[in-house]
Amino acid sequence: METPGSQSSLHRANLERVVRAVRMAGSLTQAEIARSTGLSAATVSNIVRELREGGTVEVTPTSAGGRRARSVSLSGDAGIVIGVDFGHTHLRVAVGNLAHQVLAEESEPLDVDASSAHGFGRAEELVERLIEATGIGRQKVIGVGLGVPGPIDVVSGTLGSTSILPGWTGINPSKELAGRLGVPVYVDNDANLGALGELVWGSGRGVKDLAYIKVASGVGAGLVIEGQIYRGPGGTAGEIGHITLDESGPVCRCGNRGCLETFTAARYVLPLLRSSHGRDLTMERVVQLAREGDPGCRRVIADVGRHIGSGVANLCNLLNPSRVVLGGDLAEAGELVLAPIRESVSRYAIPSAARQLSVLPGALGGRAEVLGALALVLSEMGDSTLLESTLPVGSAVFT
Ligand SMILES: [Zn+2]
Repeated sequence: METPGSQSSLHRANLERVVRAVRMAGSLTQAEIARSTGLSAATVSNIVRELREGGTVEVTPTSAGGRRARSVSLSGDAGIVIGVDFGHTHLRVAVGNLAHQVLAEESEPLDVDASSAHGFGRAEELVERLIEATGIGRQKVIGVGLGVPGPIDVVSGTLGSTSILPGWTGINPSKELAGRLGVPVYVDNDANLGALGELVWGSGRGVKDLAYIKVASGVGAGLVIEGQIYRGPGGTAGEIGHITLDESGPVCRCGNRGCLETFTAARYVLPLLRSSHGRDLTMERVVQLAREGDPGCRRVIADVGRHIGSGVANLCNLLNPSRVVLGGDLAEAGELVLAPIRESVSRYAIPSAARQLSVLPGALGGRAEVLGALALVLSEMGDSTLLESTLPVGSAVFT
């Protein structure tokens, strides 16, 4: 056992700090590691040398601000992580390494409402096939991140809402998949994973406080505060779809009236256009028509943007994020939806909160959740396995 405060436990804590910084950032220069960990340049340099000798990190020459620098990332062959994303109509799986490289990725259509056993069976097959395609041994799998389109009950680990996924009632998704694959599985909802994906790989890079808004059959937000997903004690943080916009508005599936969702989600918005634009309309098609100049679709998208902006203004006043990233099909509408969002934000948010905020479309499209699932493993995996090769437990090393 190490004594807290001893040289060796301090050293171990420093090693972990450096590994954690690189694990979430993908790659950092030594100067960036020093800034983000608060360690001195000399300590970082010693620790990086040690980690490199142990095979935990790789160091490659790069340039930063015109000067030569050394870029540090976790070793590509130190392990692989897997992301599995169950959408409402698809299953997507990605395999990545610890250096943030995606090695294999595939998606297939899936009726997720049908039966959970069918869904997990397909996921298991696709995961095994993609691992094989990378040519990396299965023993290198560190963990699986799993995305489900509904809130997870933090205490029981089961899907909290039966109305969203009726075929999945009472299922514990992480236990189910872990039992099939024999590796640790970390689970989260699609909005939180979208937020993590954009934070690590997309439009959220470089910020620590972010809200990711996902508009699909419902409306949800993934909240990142100080670089961490904020879930709340029950795992329901970010349910902005049920902010009341109009007390005498349409009845929502939650039982209240005039929720944000009733003005923005596809199931409420599409009927507005069905008599003028045909019955088989999808949100994707509405966005496409709006981009081609269709006035009715443009009007509907602008109204949706205005209403989302009211919700974002509330978020802004409460949490003061520096960036809002819009995901889902709607993000494809670009300025047609972003401009009305910004307009509502500047109208309803307190000026000091609105001033610092940028509203951007997601950069990852439909891949945000599966990449977020990879990021979830990177964030939850812990550093012990990685450090075993570098620092045997109980060894006394001084920096
Ligand atoms: Zn509601």
